[in-house]
Amino acid sequence: MTVIDVRSLKAKKIYEGELAFDYAPEEGLLDIPFVKFSGPVSAKLRYEILEDDRVVVTGSLTFTLEGACSRCLEQARETFTGEVYGLFETPEGDGETYGYKNVIRLEEFLRDELLFALPSRLLCKRCAVDE
Ligand SMILES: [Zn+2]
Repeated sequence: MTVIDVRSLKAKKIYEGELAFDYAPEEGLLDIPFVKFSGPVSAKLRYEILEDDRVVVTGSLTFTLEGACSRCLEQARETFTGEVYGLFETPEGDGETYGYKNVIRLEEFLRDELLFALPSRLLCKRCAVDE
């Protein structure tokens, strides 16, 4: 899983940047019957290291779901994009924020944000029009 090495970025006087990578989501996060991820999640993130060492991460997660339509059970497939936002503090977060020491590990953040971005159901094109 991708990390943001805050200490070495600061040593190089780099205070912002972008990250783009794909990763395999945990299937267990998805709670729609007969639906699964149809490939990796594509993350496009932007980070900014603030003067007080807090780090803001924003961006988006894009993923495709496929499986049975939640209404008629026909085969359905749809791509979703969720906006993400995270604030990282060192050495510890306060529950609303994430903690980090020198290096930010994005795993927990990505898991939380993906969970938040997941729809509660998947509809085929025909059922989506009826909505
Ligand atoms: Zn349907």
